[in-house]
Amino acid sequence: MAGSYKCARCKQKVEIDIDSEGRKQIRCPYCGHRILFKERGAGIKELKAQ
Ligand SMILES: [Zn+2]
Repeated sequence: MAGSYKCARCKQKVEIDIDSEGRKQIRCPYCGHRILFKERGAGIKELKAQ
C-alpha cells in the first residue's frame, strides 16, 4: 500500500510506502521533515504559481 502525503514544511508531494508490518516510513525525502499531511486520492487541485 502507498499513500500520498504533503510535507508540512516544504509542501512537496511525497509518496509513502507502508511495509508489511504496517509501519509508515514517514519522512520527507526533500527536506527530511517528519510531519506530513495526508492527501486524498482523487480530486486534488494543485495550485502553481507562475
Ligand atoms: Zn519537506
